[in-house]
Amino acid sequence: MRFTSDYLVLGSGVAGLTYALEAAKRGTVAVVTKRAVAESNTNYAQGGVAAVMDPEDSFEEHAADTITVGYGLSKPDIVRLVVEGGPAAIQELVARGADFDTSEGKDGLDLTREGGHGKRRVVHAGDITGQEIQRVLVEAVRATPNITVFEDHMAVDLIELSRSGGPHQVAGAYVLEEQKGDVHTFVARATVLATGGAGKVYLYTSNPDVATGDGVAMAYRAGALIANMEFFQFHPTCLYHPKAKSFLISEALRGEGGILRLANGDAFMERHHEMRDLAPRDVVARAIDFEMKRTGADCVFLDMTGQSAEFLVRRFPNIHARCVELGIDMTREPIPVVPAAHYMCGGVVVDEDGRTKIPGLYAIGEVTCTGLHGANRLASNSLLEGLVFAKRAAQATLDVGAGRLAEPPEWDSGSAVPSDEAVVVTQNWDEIRRFMWNYVGIVRSNRRLRRAARRVALLKDEIREYYWKHLVTRDLLELRNIADVAEMIIACASTRRESRGLHFTIDYPEPRDDYAKDTLIVYGEPPHLSGR
Ligand SMILES: Cc1cc2nc3c(=O)[nH]c(=O)nc-3n(C[C@H](O)[C@H](O)[C@H](O)COP(=O)(O)OP(=O)(O)OC[C@H]3O[C@@H](n4cnc5c(N)ncnc54)[C@H](O)[C@@H]3O)c2cc1C
Repeated sequence: MRFTSDYLVLGSGVAGLTYALEAAKRGTVAVVTKRAVAESNTNYAQGGVAAVMDPEDSFEEHAADTITVGYGLSKPDIVRLVVEGGPAAIQELVARGADFDTSEGKDGLDLTREGGHGKRRVVHAGDITGQEIQRVLVEAVRATPNITVFEDHMAVDLIELSRSGGPHQVAGAYVLEEQKGDVHTFVARATVLATGGAGKVYLYTSNPDVATGDGVAMAYRAGALIANMEFFQFHPTCLYHPKAKSFLISEALRGEGGILRLANGDAFMERHHEMRDLAPRDVVARAIDFEMKRTGADCVFLDMTGQSAEFLVRRFPNIHARCVELGIDMTREPIPVVPAAHYMCGGVVVDEDGRTKIPGLYAIGEVTCTGLHGANRLASNSLLEGLVFAKRAAQATLDVGAGRLAEPPEWDSGSAVPSDEAVVVTQNWDEIRRFMWNYVGIVRSNRRLRRAARRVALLKDEIREYYWKHLVTRDLLELRNIADVAEMIIACASTRRESRGLHFTIDYPEPRDDYAKDTLIVYGEPPHLSGR
């Protein structure tokens, strides 16, 4: 079937829904989302949204903290516009009914502090900030007649018109309706990628199952410019427990006095950074990785027992309850934690209004590389980036309404048959995630990257052959996407012969001035460094 709308939004997290609400003021919007509308990375965000809300704080300080953490690769003009958009974005969420924590005795929002921030500036709703944001956005979208949400619909590929003899332009997307197995043609005047991150490319991740890098992989295949894929952020503290898959122990715990310890009680962060437990994430993740490898331990411990039980239960109700369920009483004993893949700093290159290099294609949120994060992301800056860029992209696409819609060809399954060997998919999926964790994880080396490159090339051949012979399923599409994402991360990491921010390699352990550039990659070409 063919569906048409003025705006096609792929993804229903903070970026996609914020964009949809704004664009719906001008035209019809189709929101295509892989699972239920609320299933997104956004929904799992715990810590909060960074914004300058306190008179004692300033845009200059928020920008300076962002740039410091970005290790020389953040773009100051982009940092400035995101930071300045913070207060209005928060006020808009409050106006939509977001129930953020307020401060006792002060009539204002309660602001917490996280690693790398010089001030308390993180607006939060207990420890379920993302869920609260997702809730108000979903409610608003449901109440907006111009928006149609297609749940359990997965974008397969962008419709790039030069493939069918037209100009190099995106005119929509082919979309799999999972239940029926049909691939529909969604045509729009503006197509907006808001598909989030790719944590699932690694064995251990804080991300939900939807985070398979579909957007960045689709943009890559369509010929878009992609940047900085080597900068994958590992969250230092995910719960270490056999029954807890991907449960994050928020950085806000360290902001509230949490201390990382080894099993013998040793508070090791003072050996690694002057800010100790409040050092930037990459430093903390590497320190934990180092201490675990040094001692052979399976995990380290986050000690919150310096705070009162009453405070911990009130401030972190969700984390407290989950820990209790698993038999851990954080008010009396330290929480076992390990690092896990968390946030994709690289992505589709966009300008200050979310425009990609391909006409008709826009991108917002975690799928992008805007220049905000540089080589590392400052905690709680990503929800902010999604909110600010969604509004800017909506403004930039307001006038796309005029003109005829393209008429691309329908999806053609050729002679593909139903998959008869799903084991190929699960086997390759496991293999990619494991070698990415072991060879392209927190600490890299030339030899490990070469091994990973050989493996991904081999697997991509197998996946390509399987893909063309069989009817598409979500598992197969996700596998194809994580293989593309893995290829990009390995290629970018192999190009950066220095250590900077989130990219650490034992072969080049120091930063180099001549590498203070972005790593750019286009499908079919080797990556190169450029000042952009
Ligand atoms: C556990 C956790 C805690 C976090 N805590 C914080 C925090 O405190 N503060 C902060 O700023 N950031 C935090 N982050 C990061 C932040 O949540 C994300 O960067 C942000 O929510 C991304 O928003 P988004 O709209 O770009 O993508 P998402 O919220 O991930 O939404 C992506 C959407 O795209 C859909 N999708 C994906 N592929 C397809 C496809 N092929 N077809 C159709 N739909 C598709 C998904 O189903 C989903 O609806 C956290 C992340 C995690 C995982």
